[in-house]
Amino acid sequence: MFSYRHAFHAGNHADVLKHTVLIAMLRHLLQKDTALTVFDTHAGAGLYRLDGDYAETSGEAAGGFLRLIAWLNAPPAPVKKSSAAAKSIAEGLAPVIQDYLDLVASFNSKGSHKVYPGSPFIIQRLLRERDKLKVFELHPTDAKTLSANIAQLEAGRQVAVLREDGFEGLKKFLPPPARRALVLSDPSYEIKNDYARVVAMVADSLTRFATGSYAVWYPLIPRPEAHDVPRKLKTLATKAGKSWLNATLTVKSSKLTADDAGEVIRPGLPASGMFIINPPHTLKAALQLALPQLATILGQDQHATSSVESGG
Ligand code: SAM
Repeated sequence: MFSYRHAFHAGNHADVLKHTVLIAMLRHLLQKDTALTVFDTHAGAGLYRLDGDYAETSGEAAGGFLRLIAWLNAPPAPVKKSSAAAKSIAEGLAPVIQDYLDLVASFNSKGSHKVYPGSPFIIQRLLRERDKLKVFELHPTDAKTLSANIAQLEAGRQVAVLREDGFEGLKKFLPPPARRALVLSDPSYEIKNDYARVVAMVADSLTRFATGSYAVWYPLIPRPEAHDVPRKLKTLATKAGKSWLNATLTVKSSKLTADDAGEVIRPGLPASGMFIINPPHTLKAALQLALPQLATILGQDQHATSSVESGG
C-alpha cells in the first residue's frame, strides 16, 4: 500500500524544524490550566533507533539532529564567522532549539543519541494528566509498532491510537470537549492527493472549530502542489479572520545536478515548512531567533536560508 516509512527519515532536517516548532507551541499552550487535546493526524511509528537498519540505510539524521549535535560539540571553525546567525549561536543557542535538544536527550542515556522520538512521544512527554492525545496511523506495520510503543508508556486513556485515515478521522473529534486543541498534520505526501487533502482537512476543521491551533508540515520541492499548500492555507486563515505563521527552513539548493558520468543526482529533500493557524503569540519571535541558527548549522550549500512570515 504505502512505501513511505518515517524510520528512513527520522531526525532529518525536516524533523528538526517540525519538532522544534511543535515543542514551542506545546510549551505555550500548556501554560493554561484548561485541558488540551492534541491530535496527530499522521503519527508514524512513535520511536526510532538512529542506529537501526532503516535509519542507517539513508542516514538522514546525519543531516539533521546528529549534525546539530556534532556542530555543538565541535563548531567548524570557518563557518561564516561574520554572519549574524553565527554570532548569535556563539552568544547562545536559541531557547527553542535547546528545549528540543533537551527533550530528545531525555529519551537517551547521557551522551548517547541512539533513540529519536517521533511526534506522538514528543507530545506525550509534555502533556499533563488532564490532557489527551489522539494519534492516527494508517500504515499497518507502523500502526502496530506505534500501538506497542505507546502501550509501554502505560498512559492509559490519555493516549488513543487510531488505525484510520487521519484526514477523515479528525472530523468526529472537533470541537473537543474543553474547546482547546492543537492539530499536528504531517502527511508523507507520497500520494499526490495529500496536498489537496491536507488543505481540505484544515478548511473543514476551521468550520467545526475555528479557535483550534493547526500546524501543517509540507515539503518545499519543485512541484506546484507543494507550493500551493502554504498559499491555500494562508487564504483559508485570512478568510476565517485567523492569525497565521509560515516558517521555512532550506538546507540546500533544489536544483538537479549531474555526476561525472552525466547521471542526474537528485538532491533529496532541500527544504520544508510549517504553516500554523492560530499560532501562540510568542512563536514568531522564538523562531526568528532559532531558524537562522538552524539554517547556519544544517545548511549544506550557499542556498541555505530560513524565513518566518506571519499575518492576521
Ligand atoms: N508525525 C511523525 C513524526 O513527526 O514523528 C511522522 C509522520 S510520517 C511523515 C507520515 C506517516 O503518515 C507515515 O507513517 C504514514 O504511514 C502515515 N500515513 C500516510 N497516510 C495516512 C493517512 N491518510 N492517515 C494516517 N496516517 C497516514
